Amino acid sequence: MKLKVLGCYGGNIPGHGTTSLLVDDSVCLDAGWVSNALNLADQERVKDIFISHSHLDHTCSLPFLIDNNFSAPGFALRIYAIPEVIAAMKNHLFNNLTWPDFTCLPNDLTPVLKLVEIEPETPIKVNGLTVRAVHVSHIVPTTGFIVDDGKGVLAFSSDTGPTERFWEIVNQTRRLKAVITECSFPNELQELANASGHLTPQALETELPKLKRDVPVFLYGGKPKHLKRITSQVRALKRAKLDFLVQGKTYSF
Ligand SMILES: [Zn+2]
Repeated sequence: MKLKVLGCYGGNIPGHGTTSLLVDDSVCLDAGWVSNALNLADQERVKDIFISHSHLDHTCSLPFLIDNNFSAPGFALRIYAIPEVIAAMKNHLFNNLTWPDFTCLPNDLTPVLKLVEIEPETPIKVNGLTVRAVHVSHIVPTTGFIVDDGKGVLAFSSDTGPTERFWEIVNQTRRLKAVITECSFPNELQELANASGHLTPQALETELPKLKRDVPVFLYGGKPKHLKRITSQVRALKRAKLDFLVQGKTYSF
């Protein structure tokens, strides 16, 4: 499986984009930085996007991705998410106020956007990948995704505080190659992390032992203002096979 990191931060400043991971050039996990990271030709190849939750740092490039490619022949985008997330996007993003409702444009029969509800823990096959959504513990309804290409499996938690079910499923997953989870705030902002459903380096110290598999763990989601502190505190954990995702890098799993 090929994974390109389009954006991997919990905010955006020049050189640091919000969360979006591109799998095998055509399927995205979250859409915080798709139109920002890909040229128009590469944007057209993205046909399927799994959205973990409704927060803007995971959805904010969707309106521009659709707008950029609206007139491209045959362009259509399918967005997959649990029903609560689909409802939030319908009501607050593609609501004809914030942005046009592209689920009925250019017409009801052949819209450029389809919002597809998925059930947690029920596998769905998309473009050669089998994807399962798994609930995690954030302040809005959120799932991570377990992505299987038939050879290897990648587990992405998306935004979460301390959680249980995700790690249970991950530990049961055969051919697991890597886990991506988050670390948004430094230790001194633990209260803010608790209130907002995020992890700190010290929270990771109790979270990561829930993973019973010997696979690399990659972190994303750091708030740009706190990256130096987060990095030094994660390094101080001295945990093997723990590293940060690198924006723009392509990984093979
Ligand atoms: Zn969030």
